[in-house]
Amino acid sequence: MKLGEKEISDYCRMCGECCRIKGFVFVSESEAQKIADFLKTDIYSFTEKYCRIIERKKLALKDKEGKDDCIFLEDNECLIYEVRPSQCVNFPFNWTNGELPEKCIFRESI
Ligand code: SF4
Repeated sequence: MKLGEKEISDYCRMCGECCRIKGFVFVSESEAQKIADFLKTDIYSFTEKYCRIIERKKLALKDKEGKDDCIFLEDNECLIYEVRPSQCVNFPFNWTNGELPEKCIFRESI
């Protein structure tokens, strides 16, 4: 994704804080399939290991045990970056919950 002439990675400090915000990272069925393929597993194993069911029908990624960190956040990097859900791709440019971390450089630009 681009921001003007630059890539987001030209600005992002890779603090990982947006992947630690309390809340849900929802995953569509097609996104779940893409991530499962990326992880070389089947969709059932993927959902059992990495997802939780919200309101009996929506799929969301699990958090790390006892934390708000996304299960795929490791050393401030996303382990499934290439196939991360659109909710992650679009944050904070197309939507935000108003909880952008204090030190995030994008706070001023959105
Ligand atoms: S899937 Fe990746 S980008 Fe999305 S919250 Fe998890 S670690 Fe962050």
